[in-house]
Amino acid sequence: MDITIVGAGSAGLTLALLLAPSGLNIMLLEQGAAPVQGSADYQRVSALNLASVRLLSALGAWPALAQSAQPYHAMQVWDADSFARIEFDAATERQAQLGFICDNEQIRRALYQQLTQHNNVQFVFNCTINSLVQSEREVLVNINQQQLILSRLLVGADGVNSRVRRDAQLPLTHWDYEQQAIVATISTEVAHHDCARQVFLPTGPLALLPLPGQHKCSIVWSCTPARANELLALDAGAFSQALTAASNSVLGVLKLDNTPNAFALRMRYANSWLRGRIVLVADAAHSIHPLAGQGMNLGLMDVAALGELISEALAQGSDIAEPRLLRRYERWRKAEAQTLILAMEAFKRGFSNAQPLLKLVRAVGMSSVDQLPWLKSKIIAAALGNSGDLPKIARPAGKSARLA
Ligand SMILES: Cc1cc2nc3c(=O)[nH]c(=O)nc-3n(C[C@H](O)[C@H](O)[C@H](O)COP(=O)(O)OP(=O)(O)OC[C@H]3O[C@@H](n4cnc5c(N)ncnc54)[C@H](O)[C@@H]3O)c2cc1C
Repeated sequence: MDITIVGAGSAGLTLALLLAPSGLNIMLLEQGAAPVQGSADYQRVSALNLASVRLLSALGAWPALAQSAQPYHAMQVWDADSFARIEFDAATERQAQLGFICDNEQIRRALYQQLTQHNNVQFVFNCTINSLVQSEREVLVNINQQQLILSRLLVGADGVNSRVRRDAQLPLTHWDYEQQAIVATISTEVAHHDCARQVFLPTGPLALLPLPGQHKCSIVWSCTPARANELLALDAGAFSQALTAASNSVLGVLKLDNTPNAFALRMRYANSWLRGRIVLVADAAHSIHPLAGQGMNLGLMDVAALGELISEALAQGSDIAEPRLLRRYERWRKAEAQTLILAMEAFKRGFSNAQPLLKLVRAVGMSSVDQLPWLKSKIIAAALGNSGDLPKIARPAGKSARLA
């Protein structure tokens, strides 16, 4: 085997699809089942930015995904506790849309469907990893108590609780955001008009993400564990009432459509993303607060960057796990991850503080930014994935050089 990828989430599948045309022998190991065809239920969604959409389009996965994706053309962010407010819209930014809300499982399905066309990519689903050891020349994985897989490079794309990260003894910095994210699908009285909304409450942000049908949204309601427990103990009617009040009735009366799920929010950052022939990508290397909807986008850019450097190594006839190459990947993507981690921390701290002076500063700051078109455009360009040090495949048309 040339490359073994542990984890067939969005990151692992995208990396396999990026490298499949190179002819490398690729093995994907996934503890869960294979994605099966089916319609979107929007239980878990992600806001994909334009860089991620360009990547998925280049890989041929976008047309299938687009059928269930909801574009959003506007974004409204406000503070429940002050007059702070900021709005973005696609027309001002000369874009057809600001991004798409996509069902996570449909993302996996679209990628998997494309991958099944490549004979050099093999899968083991329902896979248990028993051990993982490496020598100077290869990595040996023992799976399902019976099968040994040798490869030149092993990629840990196995999510926040990465087994690969643990077995490779890559140290982790982590802290608790002291918040839980409640995720659910809701019906809204008022049409969302393709606008993504987020209100910062004293207990954490509440996002209302538009879904197909104008009167459906996915919510990500981040709040303190105590508040989350209170909310989860409510019946559907009382939860819907609390949600309507928290949203300031911006979409009229809101009604819960399914049972909410809660996720504990932690920042995780692997201090080192590689050891020998083992390298980490996406959530295995970093996980951030979902308030800016950037976690999956960040992970997809990791794999696009790694794919680009591996392709360069292949073109030059060098080793795909060459230490210089892997360190270049790590330096490149760590810079992006660190920027987002710091930004999320500043947002979280800034908005969860009820100190009057800080409230005034954030209200004045946010409203001033709203009045400064050039600054707003810079902020939105970064969020859309139209600026920064993007991998080639994800750059907007006309941007050929890497930006410093
Ligand atoms: C509430 C919430 C809302 C979010 N909203 C957004 C958003 O709007 N936009 C955005 O960009 N991001 C968002 N994110 C972040 C996004 O969901 C993650 O960053 C992204 O799903 C990570 O992808 P991944 O492939 O790295 O990991 P995962 O999706 O976790 O995939 C890892 C895969 O590895 C498999 N695996 C794990 N362990 C093993 C093992 N030992 N052996 C084999 N396989 C294994 C798992 O089964 C899984 O299939 C959100 C996150 C949360 C919690």
